[in-house]
Amino acid sequence: MSTPVIAEEVRGIIQAGSKGPMVMPIVIAVPKEQAPGELRVATVPEVVRKLTNSGYDVRIEHNAGVGAYYPDDLFIAAGAKIASSRSELLDGARIVLCVQPPTVADVNQFAEGTIVIGFMNPANNLEAIARMRDRKVTAFALEFVPRITRAQSMDALSSQATAGGYVAAIMGADNCPKFLPMLTTAAGTIRPATVLVLGAGVAGLMAIATAKRLGAIVEAYDVRRAAGEQVRSLGARFLELEINAEGQGGYARELTPDEKVQEQQMVSAAVARADIVITTAAIPGRKAPLLITRETVATMRPGAVIVDLAAESGGNCELTQAGRTMREYGVTIIGPQNLPARVPFHSSQMYAKNLQSFLMLLVDKDGALVSEFTDEILVASILVHGGTVRHGPTRDVLSGGKP
Ligand code: NAD
Repeated sequence: MSTPVIAEEVRGIIQAGSKGPMVMPIVIAVPKEQAPGELRVATVPEVVRKLTNSGYDVRIEHNAGVGAYYPDDLFIAAGAKIASSRSELLDGARIVLCVQPPTVADVNQFAEGTIVIGFMNPANNLEAIARMRDRKVTAFALEFVPRITRAQSMDALSSQATAGGYVAAIMGADNCPKFLPMLTTAAGTIRPATVLVLGAGVAGLMAIATAKRLGAIVEAYDVRRAAGEQVRSLGARFLELEINAEGQGGYARELTPDEKVQEQQMVSAAVARADIVITTAAIPGRKAPLLITRETVATMRPGAVIVDLAAESGGNCELTQAGRTMREYGVTIIGPQNLPARVPFHSSQMYAKNLQSFLMLLVDKDGALVSEFTDEILVASILVHGGTVRHGPTRDVLSGGKP
């Protein structure tokens, strides 16, 4: 495979959408995701149409969208070219759009100066990040897009958490031996099921809304008091504790030991009366807080279900095992992984739109790639560039604490 090194002076004339001379369209490449169970794709035909109309050259790896039900012919109709191999896809590609972080093998195929945009999961992807640094690849990590109003359309954490929260509620209902709504029938009256949602961020709020639509009585708890208003606006009951643990940037801070005891008692009582518990509590960059102990599970109703969205970061329930469904004390405890991939059609659509918005930050009004990444959203999300790891904590880990 040829992996051309694009010299700085050549980069200057690479542009999309311009009517001027010497136009070399920017080639955007979208690989087929390789991670096990990953059915999403980083772009969809609707977005490809917009990109090709703007002058980009979009290349899709053969069958990249098939898992999300976007077959190659839809991409071709939207103006994309299909690459039959990874090397054909990447040959001359300037921008690579992905869902999962690139692996070392992927990075080895990127030419110097390639811009990769996607989730980078830096803490678990250090080797590939070091390789991107050494190969002078530029990587933007969507998890670092700041949660400011202007960046909402690029907020892939939120769009994918929305998908995750929806699937969690459906999964809870599917594993519950009860109806969720109240029913009045000739065969008697059925009481509605009770759903408890712990952690009312983006995923939690979507789980609440979905459980409400299914007719359940919904209760929710979050350490951030501000979440109470949002929970109540969805018609659910907010469990109040006399503390406010809102930290910087709208995220939660860690609770003190005393606060943890109070929280535990209130949460345990609510867990014991619920038919379905959906847990989404997270503190960025840390292990998920433990909210449901083994003892609390033992107090739950037989047939109750726990769907632990924090399974991948340690779990909110002591009995959760990531990627597995456990049965203990008559309770089903589900530790799902990659829930957005269970609704790949819409998760991909939302993700693709997030990327489309993000791409607009990388081009100027003439459609040429910006020469410096000065926009605050780019500054916050740039992980690797020009042979340097730009994200401080990741750089520190990679250098083993050495300056
Ligand atoms: P997250 O995934 O980091 O955490 C999920 C929820 O768990 C959060 O609401 C958090 O407060 C809660 N939590 C943490 N510890 C807990 C505990 N011990 N018990 C109960 N709950 C606990 O959060 P997220 O969904 O990414 O959202 C975080 C915040 O950012 C929210 O306030 C959200 O509304 C806000 N947000 C803002 C924007 C924006 O303005 N552009 C976009 C998205 C999210």
